Amino acid sequence: MMLGSRLFTISRRCYAVRVSLSSKQSTGTRIIPNTEEALSGSSAELRKMIKESSPSAPGSTQLLYSIENGAPERKLLVNVKEDGDVNDFRSVIHKSIQHLRSHNVKDATLCLDDFPVKDLSKQDQVDHITRTAVLSGYEFSKYKKPKNEPFEHLEICQSNASSYEEVVSESTKITSGTLFARDLGNEQGDVANPEYLEEAATTLAKENSAFSLRVIKGKELQELGLNMITAVGQAAQWEPRLILLEYKPLKDNSETPVVLLGKGITFDTGGLNLKPTGFIENMHMDMCGAAAVLGTAKAVSNLNLQQNIVFALSVAENSISEKAYKPGAILKSYSGKTVEVGNTDAEGRLVLADALSYTQEIYKPKTIIDVATLTGACVVALGEYAAGLFSNKPELQKELCDAGSEVLERCWAMPIFPEHTEELESKVADTSSTGKGRYGGASTAAAFLQKFIQDDVQWAHMDVAGPAMYSEARSYMPKGSTGFGVQTLVQYLKKQN
Ligand SMILES: [Zn+2]
Repeated sequence: MMLGSRLFTISRRCYAVRVSLSSKQSTGTRIIPNTEEALSGSSAELRKMIKESSPSAPGSTQLLYSIENGAPERKLLVNVKEDGDVNDFRSVIHKSIQHLRSHNVKDATLCLDDFPVKDLSKQDQVDHITRTAVLSGYEFSKYKKPKNEPFEHLEICQSNASSYEEVVSESTKITSGTLFARDLGNEQGDVANPEYLEEAATTLAKENSAFSLRVIKGKELQELGLNMITAVGQAAQWEPRLILLEYKPLKDNSETPVVLLGKGITFDTGGLNLKPTGFIENMHMDMCGAAAVLGTAKAVSNLNLQQNIVFALSVAENSISEKAYKPGAILKSYSGKTVEVGNTDAEGRLVLADALSYTQEIYKPKTIIDVATLTGACVVALGEYAAGLFSNKPELQKELCDAGSEVLERCWAMPIFPEHTEELESKVADTSSTGKGRYGGASTAAAFLQKFIQDDVQWAHMDVAGPAMYSEARSYMPKGSTGFGVQTLVQYLKKQN
């Protein structure tokens, strides 16, 4: 039974693999584990030749051409680790797609019933295949034509296919949010400026009547006293702004929303504490937190989650000009606390702190989660392999780390010690924005944010400076903007539903 295509709208700028289900193998290209069964139909001599040259390393692949019942057929043999885990499984899916793509093959059938995976239900296997296929197909190709044609369509052949329809649909909707975040993050800073992020939010808001959009900028930003957002963005050509995309599917207005807040520094020069060569080139991706929050909004809207959520983006370009805010400046934050600017390159925490204060006051959330490419120190601690997860509530910290590990976005619990907070003492203001020395920078940044959290609010801070922007491709995660965080946040929200 063919169930038809489950889809993903292939956007103008990136592409994703369309995934569908069937319970009957179609002819064409088949992806098959490297088993005896896969060689059926071949003559004894051919079987011997194939086996001798078969891929032996787990995860390796080999494309075979044959004639079956008079029709030409391709088989991609993949060597699957017998006791492999979910990571091995996803890696096999990714490598298969890449291999086929390098031969300009555009569609294939994956014979799932034959795949051995430890501790993974068929339901979960379909979920992981779909996510991997969609993410694996991505390429940021706006400015350069890809070498190979895109791989377009993966059909999962599975007995009882119809019972997995919902899984494919959901996984596709979630990962489409990840691709959306990747595209936003990969766009160069001159294009993806604060105006551009506002336009992206505006377009998204039109897709679902549960959305409403409010943008605070210009005079209103100053009059409200969001002075730290103003200060960080005041040297740039584009106005800084606080973008509030409210999602209210529930009629019951007494339900307080969860607030998701993203750092949206559309280009971070470092300000007057200018970044040196080698550290400045990728700083168009300093808005990957905001991109992840917007990608989550897209996924939530596609899934039609029944939960009130505010998607907040604190957006500015941290530039230099005669108007630039200065090292040592003392800013009056929205909360009323005065802040001594330790370093103008520590701008993310300033725009976040004002947005945290404002959204807590306006929306009275019980839970607020911020996502930010906040510190290089977090990448020094964890590499690009995990987000640092800080929180004032251990339960929330655990829930987010668990959600992350379920979708293979690793989040690692990090501490805020009293000493980190003490480091922020200032002689001239209520607080300094930075710690005293070179050490523990991810934690002192988190300690700074925590100063703006009300006692009764549970708050978490995801420092995604490592996993949101990759220096090299790793499996289905591309070089550059990875869209990290979208799947974790959606997984967390789904469990709250
Ligand atoms: Zn910075």
